[in-house]
Amino acid sequence: MSDLILDPSVLPLDGRFGCGPAKVRPEQVKRLRSAGAKLLGTSHRQAPVKALVGSVRERIATLFQVPDGYEVLLANGGSTSFWDAAAFGLIEQRSQHLSFGEFGAKFASVAAAPWLTAPHVDEAPAGSVATLTGGIEADVVAWPQNETSTGAMAPVQRPGSDALVVVDATSGAGGLPIDIAQTDLYYFAPQKNFGSDGGLWFAIASPAAIERIARIDASDRYIPETLRLSHAVSNSRLNQTLNTPAIATLVMLDAQLEWMLTEGGLGWAANRTKTSSDLLYRWAESRPETSPFVSDPAHRSRVVVTIDVDESIDATVISRTLRANGIVDTEPYRKLGRNQLRIATFVGIDPDDVRQLTRALDEILDSGVAAREGAAA
Ligand SMILES: *Cc1c(COP(=O)(O)O)cnc(C)c1O
Repeated sequence: MSDLILDPSVLPLDGRFGCGPAKVRPEQVKRLRSAGAKLLGTSHRQAPVKALVGSVRERIATLFQVPDGYEVLLANGGSTSFWDAAAFGLIEQRSQHLSFGEFGAKFASVAAAPWLTAPHVDEAPAGSVATLTGGIEADVVAWPQNETSTGAMAPVQRPGSDALVVVDATSGAGGLPIDIAQTDLYYFAPQKNFGSDGGLWFAIASPAAIERIARIDASDRYIPETLRLSHAVSNSRLNQTLNTPAIATLVMLDAQLEWMLTEGGLGWAANRTKTSSDLLYRWAESRPETSPFVSDPAHRSRVVVTIDVDESIDATVISRTLRANGIVDTEPYRKLGRNQLRIATFVGIDPDDVRQLTRALDEILDSGVAAREGAAA
């Protein structure tokens, strides 16, 4: 069976709609060949790379309008490593987690470490958002701002206890509005809205978080060196990392931050992701065969759009047909196991390309190639 060839008039200019690694804009790659080229293959302990790290940290602080006293930290390992580092060096005794998808659940399971009291986990089904149970004794409360596995986004507000508020913004940061003062650690990685490569984590840390890190570091708890948050604090202050970072990743990240700030900052970015995601939600509601997976419109993510497809149609055929036409990574999160499309609408993705994607989807559905044999009867 050969794949449907879509009419060229419905194709987006750029067919990358994956949730991470996500589209890297051509201008970011160009930076690697121009100003960034002379940094590649040079020491991260010398002034030029330190200036690059300094620029990234400063631009992050500007983009998020960080309150006085907050610091921008970075270290190797990506967000998954940050969870381990937090279990060793941020959670004092016990954490409380919201779990409404894969990523929130993963941090909760990492926090079930033998040196900690078992965490309290507030769960809700995939496609919805959990809420914090009040009155739980916890020194860290944690949840994802955007649950990338389901396309549900959660509000970020202090719960009114002394617990540190630790927000997984891996896919939300740079594409969703945020008031950093509502958080103590807002952490993310560069391969989603920032359109760079993976392997680093960044965190915007409050004075209370910095103080917590220092206190646990001074205790007799065993902490592996690469996961020691105090190393992240002391190295970041010097625009350094404990061990060698990927310099190309930093170059592309810096180019993206510069672009976002030039275009109008976080407000502009969050409007752009809203425009893109609204196009898709409206499209899904307009077709009888599709509907937004997240039922509460307030929880529908601006940056990861999940669309359920009627059982009479095979969503894997839709994604496969798109892929054969150069439109990639629209498959659902593997462990969710739904007849679904998942489409990133990160800030680097052009709303015009999202509009074209809806036209490509129309052509596929109208052609009938994805209809399951006999199912429609
Ligand atoms: C992608 C993602 C992660 C994992 O990030 P890595 O850098 O690959 O470890 C964690 N949380 C969320 C919400 C994500 O989207």
